[in-house]
Amino acid sequence: MAALIRTINRSIFISRMGHPCLALGGSATVAKSVSVSGSSSKRLPDRVKIVEVGPRDGLQNEKTIVPAETKIRLIDMLSDSGLSVIEATSFVSPKWVPQMADQMEVMKGIRRKPGVSYPVLTPNLKGFQAAVEAGASEVAIFGAASELFSKKNINCSVEESLQRFEQVMVAAKAAGVPVRGYVSCVLGCPYEGKVAPAKVAKVAKRLYSMGCYEISLGDTIGVGTPGGMSEMLEAVSKVVPVGALAVHCHDTYGQALANILVALQMGVSVVDSSVGGLGGCPYAQGASGNVATEDVVYMLHGLGIQTGVDLPKLMDAGAFICHSLNRRTSSKVSQATHCKL
Ligand SMILES: [Zn+2]
Repeated sequence: MAALIRTINRSIFISRMGHPCLALGGSATVAKSVSVSGSSSKRLPDRVKIVEVGPRDGLQNEKTIVPAETKIRLIDMLSDSGLSVIEATSFVSPKWVPQMADQMEVMKGIRRKPGVSYPVLTPNLKGFQAAVEAGASEVAIFGAASELFSKKNINCSVEESLQRFEQVMVAAKAAGVPVRGYVSCVLGCPYEGKVAPAKVAKVAKRLYSMGCYEISLGDTIGVGTPGGMSEMLEAVSKVVPVGALAVHCHDTYGQALANILVALQMGVSVVDSSVGGLGGCPYAQGASGNVATEDVVYMLHGLGIQTGVDLPKLMDAGAFICHSLNRRTSSKVSQATHCKL
């Protein structure tokens, strides 16, 4: 793997909207052209869609139970920051995920901003019906690239798990509700270790053929490196159009931003992230979880890529939820800003 950015732009600090934050783009040199593995020069996307997963994926992995009103305020602050997709909650049984027991209240309480999508996770038909009743206009389903992960987590094989979603797909099609598909463990599994790119490609292709409009490839335990990301995306993009792919990187081993950059170089323009880096890693106590949205936005803006997100407002949302959880932000950008570097 020899992905290189030819130009590194220097960031300078300015004060904006009360935040000592960073000047992004502007007079800085912007790296838009990169070379990947000796192939011809490729351009980074002009715009990236960020899928904010903090209120669901993030909070689901936080031990402190957050009141519905705090979640509602968080989602509203996130939509005010300019994010266009905010995964709001999950319609799973509260027995499995107590943190998401207030899904109805959250869906009814949020102030829906025009142009913003609020997808929810729906593990089965019952969940899908409840989600639609609560006003969800987009849902998400999931499959693992690792057999052992699927067996240990949801007690069925990968194929069985996908078959269970057929009913959701049929109902979603009838209701005109778009469905996003998640593939977990794309760069490694806590039980199987390395996961072959061909296995990821198979599950991604399956979800895409079932009708998912976008496939989010998740490095669930954050063990991947840019080399693995490149290899995996190469395999997946042969069977699913790259325009329908998203990457979902965890920062457990500190590789998330590097992995995202490689994905951008390979044509991916949808990135999942979690404000404040919410959500730990259930397989490594105390380790980082999802890559922080603030850090992704900072990197993208530094590359001259548009996101539509106002970084200071986003950092306010991160500070709000971290304060509510009484935890330190995992966002390096927010940490640096608060240290007033
Ligand atoms: Zn995640």
